[in-house]
Amino acid sequence: MKNYSLQDSRDLYGIENWGAGYFDILPSGHLMVRPVHGESQAVDVKQVVDELVARGISTPILLRFPQILASQVERLCGAFARAIAEFGYRSSYSPVFPVKVNQRKQVIEDLLRSGRRFRLGLEAGSRAEILIAMAQDAPAGSLLVCNGFKDAAYLSTASLGMQLGRKVVVVLEKPFELENLLRMADKLDPVPYLGFRVKLHSRGSGRWEKSGGAASKFGLSAGQILWGIDKLREAGLLDRLCMLHFHIGSQITEIRRIKSAIQEASRIYAKLRKMDVKIELLNVGGGLGVDYDGSRTSSDASVNYTVQEFANDVVYNIKEVCAREEVPEPEIVSESGRALTAYHSMLITDVVSAVTPNSLPAAVLSDKDPQVVQELGYLRDRVNPKNHREFWHDALQQRDELLNRFNLGYLSLEDRAKGESLFLEVAHKAVRFAKNQKYVSEELENLEHHLSSKYICNFSVFQSVPDSWALEQLFPVLPIHRLNEKPSCMATLVDITCDSDGEIDRFVDLKDIKESLEVHPLKPGEPYYLGVLLIGAYQDVMGDYHNLFGAVNEAHICVEPDGKYTVRTLQRGDTVRQVAQIFGHDPDALGRYVEGFVEMLVREGRMEESVAHRIARRYRHELSRYTYLDRNHF
Ligand code: PLP
Repeated sequence: MKNYSLQDSRDLYGIENWGAGYFDILPSGHLMVRPVHGESQAVDVKQVVDELVARGISTPILLRFPQILASQVERLCGAFARAIAEFGYRSSYSPVFPVKVNQRKQVIEDLLRSGRRFRLGLEAGSRAEILIAMAQDAPAGSLLVCNGFKDAAYLSTASLGMQLGRKVVVVLEKPFELENLLRMADKLDPVPYLGFRVKLHSRGSGRWEKSGGAASKFGLSAGQILWGIDKLREAGLLDRLCMLHFHIGSQITEIRRIKSAIQEASRIYAKLRKMDVKIELLNVGGGLGVDYDGSRTSSDASVNYTVQEFANDVVYNIKEVCAREEVPEPEIVSESGRALTAYHSMLITDVVSAVTPNSLPAAVLSDKDPQVVQELGYLRDRVNPKNHREFWHDALQQRDELLNRFNLGYLSLEDRAKGESLFLEVAHKAVRFAKNQKYVSEELENLEHHLSSKYICNFSVFQSVPDSWALEQLFPVLPIHRLNEKPSCMATLVDITCDSDGEIDRFVDLKDIKESLEVHPLKPGEPYYLGVLLIGAYQDVMGDYHNLFGAVNEAHICVEPDGKYTVRTLQRGDTVRQVAQIFGHDPDALGRYVEGFVEMLVREGRMEESVAHRIARRYRHELSRYTYLDRNHF
């Protein structure tokens, strides 16, 4: 058998397919990150985790790589610059980051810093987001695009942004929003710039397909746009209208959907220009997808195009329509969020323990065993590559018989345990034999999944990768060390919440979706770390506090020109005190309650005073700890 190589691990986990050049494996078998696109300086992820743990920062830890954010901004803007040059486009491109994709202060600040030279602006979808966006150090002249539901308060907040010198564009997407605006226009000083979100006939593809198309919740129909223009003209506000906007959904998996949306929107833009409506900005929304599984297909977890192809299609199609209609080319705006942020963060969790379906030693048969147990023993001993399917079916029948007889009171608990153990031995053998066959039946493929171990991991799916639970979204998962060693076990990853949904059991595979992941056997006394990657878009925002597992420890890692890394920011995760407070519990009051209770026990002579003090002190200490498992306490 050939030796296991790093390339085998790269292929097994698909690193080169989904990694966009940011991830690879070091000769030591550790996962590495190359955060600066096109440059070789790398960070050893296992080394970072070891050092953080040594400093008392325990797992789960979220690692952010701000330089990946900068690299992604450059990738996107570089792609548009190349497309503009190639097609001789006579206007410019302005990127806008939709804050809802990741509202973390550091993420917004890092993006604005690295996007300054591209005049990166922000997009907000609520009043809270506008208030945060308008108080950022954004480049002069950059856009603040305002989407979402707009009432009077929203509109006056947008006007406040204008007073601060921001170029605020309120995108109207419902007739009532325009009516609200017209009703209060004389109170808005100044009236913000305006945009119309158009409801395209073209739909997106993939999971968010419903965001576009005629039945979508958002956008104005052609008739409503014409009505809106008349209304604005009557009110003397038509000169405020500067943007046509559309968004057909996030993670558009097929490039042809993007092309047809661009063509339709460009045509609407051109017709409006011909009506002398001086729209200067064409906003193509978000939707630029991320290839999470690396398959480059139109599956939900992938995209069948590159960033460059996306930019080329946007620029080329707008240019084409404008040339045919003989109207000026608009400034292009895009609101790409997922593509800018997904790659920059990963969750590191440690495996606390493994649960295997059959961890007992092989069952030893005796003449005294009941018939059904003997039958299962026969199947265990005689199953072979030729008969494995037939014997598996027989084992299923005998297992049912075993349980029936146990329920009727004919078998002891020991009989049942031995029978079940034999049944699992047959199952393991059948799967092993099936794997060497040319054709593996679906039932035996499924059986392999049922026989895989469960690796119990120190994290909460609901807090850290909510889309894995809510949308069954795929994220690349792999060990961050021992990648020079062949992983010999299959496992699903269960979290530490008391919820059976708290499990990752869908994994990236080039042609399919794997139901269990190749992992290494655990070594006693040694931590085993797994990374869940590409979680920088939407996951920070959507996470919840199921079982009161709170925000995780966080470290921001930068690589220096000399190849060393620095921990730029270290943020402690939530303590029990903090999560208790979120849900209205006063931690001090909880402490006082415990104190009062033990004092009462002392008064009644049911507890020693010293014990009471110790309990009260201990309770307060427990409140101040991290909400996750602590390795030192095992
Ligand atoms: N713009 C709008 C209006 C959106 O609703 C969204 C998200 O769905 C985005 C931009 C960001 O999309 P993406 O993350 O796919 O780039």
